Amino acid sequence: MPEAAERHHDPVWLPEVLRAEKLDVVEFGGWRRRGHGDFEDLRGVMVHHTGSDSATAASIAYGRPDLPGPLSQLHVARDGTVTVVAAGVAWHAGVGRYSWLPANTGNWHTIGIECANTGTSPLAPHRLDWPDAQYFAVVGAAAAIIRRLGLPASRVIGHKEYAGRAQGKWDPGAIDMDRFRSDVAAFVGADARASTPRPAVPVGGYADVLLDRGSTGPQVAELQRRLKYAYTAYAGDVEIDGVFGPETESAVREFQRRTPGLVVDGVVGPATAAALRLRLIPAL
Ligand SMILES: [Zn+2]
Repeated sequence: MPEAAERHHDPVWLPEVLRAEKLDVVEFGGWRRRGHGDFEDLRGVMVHHTGSDSATAASIAYGRPDLPGPLSQLHVARDGTVTVVAAGVAWHAGVGRYSWLPANTGNWHTIGIECANTGTSPLAPHRLDWPDAQYFAVVGAAAAIIRRLGLPASRVIGHKEYAGRAQGKWDPGAIDMDRFRSDVAAFVGADARASTPRPAVPVGGYADVLLDRGSTGPQVAELQRRLKYAYTAYAGDVEIDGVFGPETESAVREFQRRTPGLVVDGVVGPATAAALRLRLIPAL
């Protein structure tokens, strides 16, 4: 569980929580010490597009002559690779305003996610030219961060929502931020109002999963690890011992209770496994 004090420090936990979310994470050299000073308190996440499908993590780390890097804390490539570029403050937000931010302070209160994407156009339909791998990596990264911070999905905003009026920003283009937040809420699994099913993982891939009270082995251990590290709020006293006992069952029930569309039965079948994005361990 996040300690209150952690909200006043740089997010050096980024790689850990992103990996717990099953994302492909790269740590860009020097990320821990990179920043324009330290964060005071983290209030949310701001999503951007870089303006180019091929913009690299290095371009976000180093910036450009008129705007030195870091330009964001995270970079998400089109293949879904998430690179942690900086733990300190980055110049991504500029001037603007939003309800839970003092005016023009986005850089000091939000974690920026820069996505290698042209954004297509300000009026492009949702997810046009956003590859699934990239889109769901951004959703997962945002979900992992707000879960860690104990914040709701409403704390994930687009640059256009903050700086649209002030700077004419329209990024991230081809992203309907309400639909994006709904997907984030589904990933967090804690927002009962979210009705969007989790589209990232086809249930078919989990067709053979059936874990319940009394199951044992490495797949149960992976379930426990997933509950403990990615869904900490539900995990209770779960131990990673590969035995599906009462604690594991109650954690599964709690996850099911908080995830729209799941039956609360304490059994991990295909739908619950997909919702957990459980890593499948090949049978020996
Ligand atoms: Zn932007």
